[in-house]
Amino acid sequence: MIFSVLQQQIKKRKVMKKITVAKGDGIGPEIMDATLEIIMTAGAKIEIEEIEVGEKVYLAGNTSGIAQESWDTIRRNKIFLKAPITTPQGGGYKSLNVTTRKFLGLYSNVRPCMSLHPFVSTKHPVMDIVIVRENEEDLYAGIEHQQTDEVVQCLKLISRPGCEKIVRYAFEYAKQQNRKKVTCFTKDNIMKQTDGLFHQVFDEIAKEYPEIENEHWIIDIGAAKMADTPEAFDVIVMPNLYGDVLSDVAAQITGSVGLAGSANIGEECSMFEAIHGSAPRRAGQNVANPSGLLQGAIMMLNHIGQTDVAEKVQNAWLKTLEDGTHTYDIYKEGISKQKVGTKEFAKAIIDNLGNKPSVLKPVSYANNSALNLPKYQRKSTAKKELVGVDLFVHWGGSDPNELAEIIKSLEGNGIELTMITNRGIKVWPEGFKETFCTDHWRCRFKPSEGMQINKSNIVDLLTSAINQNIDIIKTENLYTFDGRSAYSLGQGQ
Ligand code: NAD
Repeated sequence: MIFSVLQQQIKKRKVMKKITVAKGDGIGPEIMDATLEIIMTAGAKIEIEEIEVGEKVYLAGNTSGIAQESWDTIRRNKIFLKAPITTPQGGGYKSLNVTTRKFLGLYSNVRPCMSLHPFVSTKHPVMDIVIVRENEEDLYAGIEHQQTDEVVQCLKLISRPGCEKIVRYAFEYAKQQNRKKVTCFTKDNIMKQTDGLFHQVFDEIAKEYPEIENEHWIIDIGAAKMADTPEAFDVIVMPNLYGDVLSDVAAQITGSVGLAGSANIGEECSMFEAIHGSAPRRAGQNVANPSGLLQGAIMMLNHIGQTDVAEKVQNAWLKTLEDGTHTYDIYKEGISKQKVGTKEFAKAIIDNLGNKPSVLKPVSYANNSALNLPKYQRKSTAKKELVGVDLFVHWGGSDPNELAEIIKSLEGNGIELTMITNRGIKVWPEGFKETFCTDHWRCRFKPSEGMQINKSNIVDLLTSAINQNIDIIKTENLYTFDGRSAYSLGQGQ
């Protein structure tokens, strides 16, 4: 008897999943308490280890907003449910969200945005979009420098592994969820190298999924179309910054930014959250909508294989919205029946556990476990050839012809000045006098006909520049890879 009780306890412990929880700032603690109460009552087999992150930690002098012990907890448990946190303005505080995503390799950010017509007021009754946002690179590398009095720079880094991982994730997700189309948004008509690579990888990987329709839109018109006719889209995959902006737009046009959750998936660890922030103005008033974080928690339950609990909670949530029990952000006279606070909304969902919606489509999560993607395989290296160099110069003059005369004095060893641009536009030779110029100039050097360039030539150029008091702020080597030019031309070149 005692033995079988012990055996049962061991079995119970085995299915229990330990997760890390952070209650965050602002409305965070209220929506986390509501979320945990709902999922625990629904039967989630989770053991919670709580950590403190965010405002208090920042203000105690830790600029990353998280203590070393908390990292240890997150890495040990691998699953992290996080309420929104407040990043204090100024003072060099780094966004904990971005740091967590990158430290833990959470490359895929999945943000489903679905309208709940006719129960939540929306201009887009048939919208059901999933935004798959690249989560580790792009301008979020956060590598920024001031280079001249007038110009600052942020590096946009896009990698082949980053593109392959996120695009494959989008297609695998579409396959698992029985979705029909994957759309890619980029701005590769302008950023031919960075967004161009994302688009190119999308086209390559799309071929492996002939059963799923694929298309590419330039982000500006794509975003306009999404905001106007979201029913034209299904799964949309995009680089980090565009995904950040457009997933808020997509969530908001379903009815409220408070409705959408987000899964940040990596090869080892995952983090689940609401897409909105800590809404400090709403904190401590029992008014916030816990739905966004609850949606994150439901994705977490699916990810850890507790799909039955996830399904039960989602159907109860849909039923509660269908009943017209709404928090202030989605409450609308004539549609809603009852305006409730955070706790009352959670209670209504708990009372609906086991019920299904009758107008909205009930969900079935039988096939919803974590996706298992192959690891990225590094490709063979290309033949890389140095074919020139861009010297970036800080110069306070205004006439590009005058600068060209100064810079030409650096020429030697068959290496010639071929072009000067200012903020990307060609200003020499044959620039327009109307072009506005800052104090930040790119001077492109290339070998003359029949000559070659090597790295010592670049050192010679820099040495001459130092000797002549020309302020070079950085250099950028120009390469070909397997004979293909791998740098942008000057605009107007
Ligand atoms: P926010 O998303 O916190 O709030 C904007 C507005 O949306 C709120 O004033 C409120 O009216 C509404 N809103 C948001 N969530 C809601 C909810 N659950 N229920 C009801 N209404 C809701 O955006 P913000 O005001 O720009 O940012 C506040 C703080 O949150 C900032 O410090 C920011 O850095 C941080 N933030 C954190 C995260 C995160 O932790 N993942 C994400 C975004 C912003």
